[in-house]
Amino acid sequence: MLHKLKDSGEKILILERGTFLPREKENWSSVAVFQKGRYHTTEMWKTEGDKDLHPETGYWVGGNTKVFGAAMFRLREKDFEEYQTADGISPAWPVGYKEMEPFYTEAEKLYHVHGKMGLDPTEPFRSEEYPYPEVSHEPRIQLLNDELLQQGLHPFYLPLGIKLDEANRIKSPCIRCNTCDGFPCLIHAKSDADINCVRPSLDYENVTLLTDAKALKLNTSASGREVVSVDVETMEGIQQFTADLFIVSCGAINSAALLLKSANSAHPNGLANSSDQVGRNYIKHNSVAMMSISTKPNHTIFQKTLAVNDFYWGNEDYKFPMGHIQLLGKSNKDIIADDVPVAPGFLLSEVAEHAIDWWMTGEDLPDPDNRVQVINDQIHLDYKENNRESFDRLVHKIKHILSSIDSGHSFIPHGFYPSKNIPLAAVGHQSGTARFGIDKATSVLDLNCKTHDVGNLYVVDGSFFPSIGAVNPSLTIIANALRVGQHLLEQMK
Ligand SMILES: Cc1cc2nc3c(=O)[nH]c(=O)nc-3n(C[C@H](O)[C@H](O)[C@H](O)COP(=O)(O)OP(=O)(O)OC[C@H]3O[C@@H](n4cnc5c(N)ncnc54)[C@H](O)[C@@H]3O)c2cc1C
Ligand code: SF4
Repeated sequence: MLHKLKDSGEKILILERGTFLPREKENWSSVAVFQKGRYHTTEMWKTEGDKDLHPETGYWVGGNTKVFGAAMFRLREKDFEEYQTADGISPAWPVGYKEMEPFYTEAEKLYHVHGKMGLDPTEPFRSEEYPYPEVSHEPRIQLLNDELLQQGLHPFYLPLGIKLDEANRIKSPCIRCNTCDGFPCLIHAKSDADINCVRPSLDYENVTLLTDAKALKLNTSASGREVVSVDVETMEGIQQFTADLFIVSCGAINSAALLLKSANSAHPNGLANSSDQVGRNYIKHNSVAMMSISTKPNHTIFQKTLAVNDFYWGNEDYKFPMGHIQLLGKSNKDIIADDVPVAPGFLLSEVAEHAIDWWMTGEDLPDPDNRVQVINDQIHLDYKENNRESFDRLVHKIKHILSSIDSGHSFIPHGFYPSKNIPLAAVGHQSGTARFGIDKATSVLDLNCKTHDVGNLYVVDGSFFPSIGAVNPSLTIIANALRVGQHLLEQMK
């Protein structure tokens, strides 16, 4: 949004509750990042039964893209339509793929996305080839790719937002290291929102960034029709800032929390919440991380290059959408220490050296009871799983395929695929808490992500999703921000 609006000439103040993520050796330490959660907030939330929930999220300039895996996918055309899943209807979006396509193209250029069109069997229409060539597979992953092809699947190159120049490695900002997915990039070669959008905007005289500035409450005029100011916790105490236009982009959970905390006499149920939908319909994907282990050593350094969508919409045996499969960053003994039961006689490092690491996501459906609330000034996140059966089938399916590829040379007990259900605390794919729509009784935002109830208030982050599909969300969040930014520029003319 900032990238789009910086040229408007309007004075823009960005309030960021965190600071710049420090550049330090720990950026690339598995112990610091994975075992000690160095870049996670210490803030505590609550979940069902009043239990503590320590969210695995960080507050930094650039938000969660500072540590993301940089897998940058477009939703499929059909994801924008209504369709049947095994567990109910996935609702349609009020804006279709056709309207989003030019903004996906713009977002891919802005975030330096590598890929190769024509290989993913579910790929939506693209008006252009990816702006940068695919990131190549290392030998073990190329072998896996060929084995999957032999099984009749259609593996493809994972679209990635990194500044890698494989044709000229000496000049390449990205060194293709083994600490990317889940880590900050020490040398700023990952395409994150801080490096690609915020820092270049700070050269503009009309743009000011205030860090350590947490938005606490939005205040409206007496009529409640417009926001007039925001209360902000800063290093100098609580300050109040006024503006003509307010854009909330705190991430789906904190944006909902901010609106709920901003209740007043004109908006007793929370700001812009006449629909009672603010905070509801939280969606985040069903997700599993899994290892497949074989006798073949895996010396891959940068592993996150391959994905499989053959079961995205189901297959001949099962007609419902199952989900998406991609590789994770390469594990090591420190990353898996808490999660993998080691077979007798093997060391964690041996397991990791023979493992390929996978990440699977399936769609979860919006449920009004899956929701963010603010109780006694603290975030409560309640969530009950749904649409699980089709996702479990996906996990079973890939295990079955991998076991036939590996049959005869698996040195770990056959069928042993250490896997981990991603817990509620991992809020990386948080979306849906202020969905957009035409009907103000059932949605919070209109088609331009302006709140139905308040004239000068927009919410532009993952909150607007009416449904989440099964691919990673960041490119859609970015493309939508560019779309809304374009709308605002036209309004400002
Ligand atoms: C480990 C990890 C790996 C991931 N990998 C991928 C991937 O490979 N591909 C992909 O597509 N997605 C990935 N994601 C998800 C992706 O990072 C998010 O979808 C994306 O960052 C969401 O953007 P957002 O703008 O909605 O929220 P955020 O990125 O969370 O940004 C919110 C911003 O608001 C600030 N903020 C919050 N509250 C306040 C407040 N009250 N006042 C002021 N500022 C506030 C925060 O500090 C932050 O800067 C990953 C996430 C994680 C955690
Ligand atoms: S792989 Fe490239 S972008 Fe990722 S952390 Fe390493 S140097 Fe940075």
